[in-house]
Amino acid sequence: LVRIRGLSKSFGTHQVLHGVDLDVREGEVTVLLGPSGSGKSTLLRCVNHLESPDAGYVEVDGRIIGHRPRGGRLHALRPRALTRQRAGIGMVFQQFNLFPHLTVLDNITEAPVAVRGLPRRQAADRARELLDRVGLAGRQDSYPRQLSGGQRQRVAIARALAMEPRLMLFDEPTSALDPELVGEVLAVMKDLAADGMTMLVVTHEIGFAREAADTVVFLDAGRVVESGPPAHVLTTPRHDRARAFLSAVL
Ligand code: ATP
Ligand code: MG
Repeated sequence: LVRIRGLSKSFGTHQVLHGVDLDVREGEVTVLLGPSGSGKSTLLRCVNHLESPDAGYVEVDGRIIGHRPRGGRLHALRPRALTRQRAGIGMVFQQFNLFPHLTVLDNITEAPVAVRGLPRRQAADRARELLDRVGLAGRQDSYPRQLSGGQRQRVAIARALAMEPRLMLFDEPTSALDPELVGEVLAVMKDLAADGMTMLVVTHEIGFAREAADTVVFLDAGRVVESGPPAHVLTTPRHDRARAFLSAVL
């Protein structure tokens, strides 16, 4: 479903990604590990074109992100077309980014109504189903400040799912949470994975990687240095940096 080839990105003179190749097959979970500053967030942001690559490309579902072919060449998408393309990719960040002045229900229905033109009643029905799915049935009238961090992050997941994405990106979804709230968010993510959602997840939760990932990719200084099934990458990493990192987080 996702094909990344030769992806490079610099900020000024600092090259953050050096020709990254990565695939995520439909229905599979890929966990991206790596030290701080190795380019994990930048990589995810290139997938939904919050950053545009300097070289290489990201293809989702056979389409180059941020571009469309015309006359044998690729042309940059206009903002509206980009919004539509992004609508198929859900993203959950470390900070929940919920709208503080909107109820849980309105947070979830906002994008489907505004971007997809879904009737409000239908969007609300779907939002209630999603809240049930993330274990928050009945909380639709709460405001974000009335929820715990774990609950807010589960609302953020429901909000992303409301757009019926084919791919979900997670950028350290549990690292801003108190330890006792991490489990409830990981449980929702595992559930989603078991349900066949295609996911690309940046996390330091090695237990999640071991249980839920089909593939673990280790990024170091903008390069993929390990990639394979969790049993291999997590237990017998070949690369020194990966070994050092894993012994620090395990
Ligand atoms: P962390 O584990 O700390 O989240 P990361 O692997 O996600 O790290 P990135 O956030 O992708 O790393 O950042 C990689 C490098 O790119 C860092 O050195 C960062 O300072 C730099 N960087 C990221 N975004 C920008 C930007 N918009 N402008 C300039 N530099 C940036
Ligand atoms: Mg990051």
